[in-house]
Amino acid sequence: MSTPRRLLARLRNLMAHGDAPPGSQDLPALARLVAGELVSEVCSVYVGRGGDILELAATEGLRQEAVGRTRLRVGEGLVGLCAATGETLNLPDAQNHPAFAYRPETGEDDFASLLAVPVRRAGRSLGVLVVQNRSPRRYDADEVEVVETVAMLLAELLAAGQSERAESDLSATLPRRFSAASLSPGIVIGPIVLSSTGNAPHRLLADDPDRELVRLEQAWQAMQRGIERLISDQLPEAPKAAAASTRKAADALASREILEAYRLIAADAGWLKRVTEAIGGGLSAEAAVARVAGELRDRMRRITDPYLRERLADLEDMAGRLLASLDGDAVQAPVPSGAILLARRLGPAELLDWHARGVAGVVIEEGSPSGHAAILARALGIPALGGARGVVESADPGDEAVLDGDEGQVFLRPEQELKFGYLNAIEARTARQAGWANLRDKPAMTRDGTAVRLMLNVGLAMELGQLAATGAEGIGLFRTEIAMLARGAVVDTAEQATVYGRVLDAAGNRPVLFRTLDLGGDKLLPGSPPSEEENPAMGWRSLRIGLDRPALLRRQLRALLLAAAGRPLSVMFPMVATVAEFRAARALLVAEATRVRPQPSKLSIGTMLEIPALMWQLPALLREADFISVGTNDLLQFLFAADRSAPQLAGRYDILSPPVLDLLSDLRAQADAAGVSLSVCGEAAGRPLEAITMVGLGIFTLSMPASAILPLKALLAELDLPKFRLFLEAIRRTSQGASSVREQIATWAREHNLPI
Ligand code: PEP
Ligand code: MG
Repeated sequence: MSTPRRLLARLRNLMAHGDAPPGSQDLPALARLVAGELVSEVCSVYVGRGGDILELAATEGLRQEAVGRTRLRVGEGLVGLCAATGETLNLPDAQNHPAFAYRPETGEDDFASLLAVPVRRAGRSLGVLVVQNRSPRRYDADEVEVVETVAMLLAELLAAGQSERAESDLSATLPRRFSAASLSPGIVIGPIVLSSTGNAPHRLLADDPDRELVRLEQAWQAMQRGIERLISDQLPEAPKAAAASTRKAADALASREILEAYRLIAADAGWLKRVTEAIGGGLSAEAAVARVAGELRDRMRRITDPYLRERLADLEDMAGRLLASLDGDAVQAPVPSGAILLARRLGPAELLDWHARGVAGVVIEEGSPSGHAAILARALGIPALGGARGVVESADPGDEAVLDGDEGQVFLRPEQELKFGYLNAIEARTARQAGWANLRDKPAMTRDGTAVRLMLNVGLAMELGQLAATGAEGIGLFRTEIAMLARGAVVDTAEQATVYGRVLDAAGNRPVLFRTLDLGGDKLLPGSPPSEEENPAMGWRSLRIGLDRPALLRRQLRALLLAAAGRPLSVMFPMVATVAEFRAARALLVAEATRVRPQPSKLSIGTMLEIPALMWQLPALLREADFISVGTNDLLQFLFAADRSAPQLAGRYDILSPPVLDLLSDLRAQADAAGVSLSVCGEAAGRPLEAITMVGLGIFTLSMPASAILPLKALLAELDLPKFRLFLEAIRRTSQGASSVREQIATWAREHNLPI
């Protein structure tokens, strides 16, 4: 029998003793077994002891007096480093590692090599398992694998002990508030349900790998059938005709995109192979799936790219479904109606599942707005928050919660007053929304009759239904990279053309501004190496890649031209820093256009304005560009040198400040003089005060997320533009040097009873 299987078999015997449940009394025997099987002189178990202390709980090979005495903080010494990073350390010369912390009581002077493996469960660090040898050597892959597998068993032992302690924790009865990112707007008040992802499998080890492989295969098939059923039951069927002109059809198309992405992820990550290998090593099918999912979770913690994190979250979702399927799809407890789901992570299929079971709001600890779950939550109209760290641990099922998807807050066990405040807000909103519904078919207009064009920012076919739902006048920003990132791969020309064609079909006579791929920086496709640049947002990204490696850009341009199929086509380029870059990009488009039949009836070529340098090239740019769309998200970060994703800087620099208002006003004047159409498509365009300010500055085309359109129509209908203009001119004259004029604008809006 191979070492791992023999070791696991012995561990199984060890844990199957009589009446006592497995627990910390097993640790010395576990350390002895591992040391013996690996022929290592030392095996030690360090266990987390509350706060950030790791304590030597058992050892074979170090001095027994050190047990219960040797303590390290998380981050201190090699053991602490391993716990802090969640990464395995494999060191032939541990004592000369800069993080080494000498503990004389352990008698570890003689041991040169060290293998430290984190003991983690459901993303939490529970301890560290360490193996040491006298001779300096690097442990081979098989040895690392064995110790990692034992660490997984150890995690279950330790978690069993910890859950008893957690039950006596009284802090779980107090009100708590968490700030989080809004993934989907809206307010919900309801009881909490917790997602069970991360539950431990009941049976860890198995005698008969072949039987486990058969179980895995059957569960895999059942899971796939389940996903297909879920999607076809919940999301509307695509219509027979290709045109996706209704919201239902768009949703159906998008769900298919996501399902397809699911398949791709399953195929290219090779993770089923890793599950199979783990079964070969002696684990049960459940434990093998849980182990691979645990590895993914740890990889996820280290990845900063939000899109890649989401792809891994999808995989984890699949692992969760596979576990449920192996469990024979244990009967699910009923979900109280209007419940709020709290989850560490949530994949798209899981979200659909919970939605079908009656969940009305979602809080995810690790969700990001670009993730599949967020996209689906918006499409299904479920309020959702992401990035609410620690929320799952602070709640018990059945606790009441208030989820505020507008302000990015969740309140656990709220005080009565707060709850009543929110109940009133829900009532007021319901009344307001009833009023907004009649605005859908009316053009956006200020009180004095100035027309404003409100357009949509979208990136997936799923969102096209929003055109009809909001009465938007077109798509002011179609982020083409989003669909590719959702797919997880570069899509070929024909397929791209189909997607863009559907967008144009859905838009009908309304304009669509397609933005070419804005990849790179933090938006990476699987397989692309992560950027090693210090500042990827200012690095080799977006159009810069497109111009240096034009094949991908040209394929996309051809797809856009094919999709237009004789209709008008508008294309704009992101991250343009110089007129020369714009010319080069435009030349590629024009060259492609000469090869395509039928040619678009009208080809408009424009640029995003996201890099301040363009402001000093406007005369040339305005002669050559057909339109300009201001990307305030990036423009602000480059203007103030303030990373748009740095939470410490959020709110520090204000778009409603003299330098930005001067910039926008100047740009508007020059664009008007040149007869070039100007719009703003950053997130700010959809926010009430920012939007009226832009209109006040004379920018009459704004592109925004769908949820902002109807409220903004309602707001504009109350705005006396000539009066507001006078006020705006006055504060711009008197506020030079101020870091913000937001408060003055808000006060004016309140005094004039604007619904901000
Ligand atoms: C922007 O920068 O304002 C913009 C619309 O582009 P993105 O948010 O996709 O970078
Ligand atoms: Mg941008």
